[in-house]
Amino acid sequence: MSFKSGFVAIIGRPNVGKSTLMNLLVGSKVSIISPKPQTTRNSIRGILTKDKYQIIFIDTPGVHTPKNKLSEYMVKISENTLTEVELILYIVEATDYLIGKWDEYIISKLNNVKTPKMLVVNKSDLASKDDIERVKSLFSKVCNFDYTIDVSAIDGSNCDLLINKIIEILPEGPKYYYDDMITDSSERFIASEIIREKILNNLLDEIPHGIGVVIEKFSERADKELIDIIATIYCEKESHKSIIIGKNGSMLKRIGIQAREELEVIFGIKINLQLWVKVKKNWRDDINSMRYLGYNIKEV
Ligand code: GDP
Ligand code: MG
Repeated sequence: MSFKSGFVAIIGRPNVGKSTLMNLLVGSKVSIISPKPQTTRNSIRGILTKDKYQIIFIDTPGVHTPKNKLSEYMVKISENTLTEVELILYIVEATDYLIGKWDEYIISKLNNVKTPKMLVVNKSDLASKDDIERVKSLFSKVCNFDYTIDVSAIDGSNCDLLINKIIEILPEGPKYYYDDMITDSSERFIASEIIREKILNNLLDEIPHGIGVVIEKFSERADKELIDIIATIYCEKESHKSIIIGKNGSMLKRIGIQAREELEVIFGIKINLQLWVKVKKNWRDDINSMRYLGYNIKEV
């Protein structure tokens, strides 16, 4: 077998486990995860390189009906990805018993592209074999898949089989990235995402969606093994700001500790993390603010 390679889009409605699955397949956390929908906002690449192949997974923000400019951006990124890849993994859940609006919308997009498609029924740990078969036939009736598989991104079942099937479908191709690269995200981007993940996991629903994180400073000290990171958390309301900071700063402290600990593991170096909180009203509907917060509008 000669070298095979290609780009594989991971799409599906929010919360089906796209980011968890990509992290598992790549073997490292490259995309943040939370129980909340719309955690992923940009497309994030996770790279798996072996002797005979290189798979570049693209974790997309999830296709949904846009509510503001930020979500418009997220949807466009996801839709653009569909035509630029060698294979699409369409993720649904083993517990799905009907096709909802979100999936109907995704399927209408899928039926318009010629890219090979695989139906991946995730969260097989939560359902019986019969349920899984029902989900497979439910979705296969409305869209043509080249292959159908059930997996669990939590316990890893069938994931080797999934990789084998992906390699079968991928064409011969070049090595796009160096062997040791697991993502093409910058260190600044990773830092801002990990901070955002800790916010998502510590705060109740309404606030996190209006959060943006800007890394103001990211620098390694010349004299010691330490990185200084200063980040500003932007939120949309004064009332949200006080919740993020918490009583006597306790919430911000907790978010800071969790983010620092994880970043120290990721970067393998001590980190000095400072967090600030500021209000930027309606930034999700303001293109300039979105650019400032790192969403590259020109990209779409
Ligand atoms: P995304 O929005 O599609 O990227 O979904 P995430 O990867 O952020 O996951 C959403 C939630 O589903 C998280 O709480 C995950 O821990 C959970 N999850 C993901 N994959 C599985 C799975 O295979 N089994 C179970 N039980 N939970 C999963
Ligand atoms: Mg995600």
